Amino acid sequence: MKVRKVPQRKCIVCQKTLSKREMLRIVRTPEGEVELDLTGKKNGRGAYICGDAEAFKKARKTKAFERALKVNLSPEQYDRLEEQFAAVRDKFQSVSCGKPDEPAAE
Ligand SMILES: [Zn+2]
Repeated sequence: MKVRKVPQRKCIVCQKTLSKREMLRIVRTPEGEVELDLTGKKNGRGAYICGDAEAFKKARKTKAFERALKVNLSPEQYDRLEEQFAAVRDKFQSVSCGKPDEPAAE
């Protein structure tokens, strides 16, 4: 039996399951704003991605946030999220977004 001390979350970009600490939470607030949730406790619909610089770019490219949060994001909203993401990503363990056996190059 595996003992899981940390809740597991699934990355909306690569579908990898990681501990909550290794993931970034993006939340759609009841007001309809989309923002990074560093506390993990904000109200609203949440989605998780790997704490990896590439993860955000991939999410933007594939519209993973839109699908997961059922919301339309403007380029301005993406830019703001990306800024927030860039400011905090050093706090996260370096986890590469993608399946471990997947080649990193596109
Ligand atoms: Zn990922």
